[in-house]
Amino acid sequence: MSELVQAHLDHKRSWYDFHYCYPVISRRSKGVSLGVNLNPNKACNFDCVYCEVDRVNPPRRKDVDLDQLEREMAALMDLVVSGELYQVAPFDSARPEQRRLNDIAFSGDGEPTMAKEFAECVARLARLKAAKGLHDCKLVLISDATLLQAPGVIKGLEILMANQGEVWAKLDGGTEAHYREVNRSRVPFAKILDNLVATARRWPITIQTLFLEWRGQGPSALEVDAYIERLRELLTGGGRLEGIQIYTVARATPEPEARPLKAALLDAVAAKVRQALPALPVEVFYGPDDPGHV
Ligand code: SF4
Repeated sequence: MSELVQAHLDHKRSWYDFHYCYPVISRRSKGVSLGVNLNPNKACNFDCVYCEVDRVNPPRRKDVDLDQLEREMAALMDLVVSGELYQVAPFDSARPEQRRLNDIAFSGDGEPTMAKEFAECVARLARLKAAKGLHDCKLVLISDATLLQAPGVIKGLEILMANQGEVWAKLDGGTEAHYREVNRSRVPFAKILDNLVATARRWPITIQTLFLEWRGQGPSALEVDAYIERLRELLTGGGRLEGIQIYTVARATPEPEARPLKAALLDAVAAKVRQALPALPVEVFYGPDDPGHV
């Protein structure tokens, strides 16, 4: 048994003493996902009403030390490959089909592409997984899409997509008003849509959409129609979509008015999307999934 696993057995929060990397069993990934937090400073240019990142307590540290990050990731990769990870909770209850390394996910306490180290980090982790022979392990960027056309980010995306990369980009509705209300960003909605289509023209992307009950209301029929229209525009604009992931609030949020949308309503939205865009794969997730950036 490695020192790392023994340390975890002795002290349950051993993984969490890592500063940048963390393992999760991810239903969206259908396996083990090794998360990378490039935002220990909790920086984000969205302020989603449903954000689960703890912004009350000050961050443990604000800097990104890529050497330490790489060491942490190498240690986690070794634990997954050796199977030692599955000796400790909650990984010991993973189903057999979940006991596989699916991806490294850039998904932390903020927007990963805001970190100036983003491209360098992608390059390092691509090299690391190649050196360990983990050729099937994906590199997944989970992003709010605000910076997808920034030159430094494109540099990172080019490396990512050359190394089993996937982009999971957030689009939580179809109108500027809904975006302002739910995502509370100063970045114009039109900029998000422009970034999505520009990126999707170059590489197929996955759209992630969180629908919730906000102030006692689920998304209106008009909002869902507008959302479908934005998806349609992405496709007619030459963008390619791998699929859509629809999900809802999974844990307590700092905003008590942000609540999970009932499963039946989530299903109804998904059914409407499927009916309007039958060629597009639509998946629905109802409960807790990856921690951090949601
Ligand atoms: S949910 Fe993600 S995009 Fe929204 S504020 Fe939190 S970290 Fe930023």
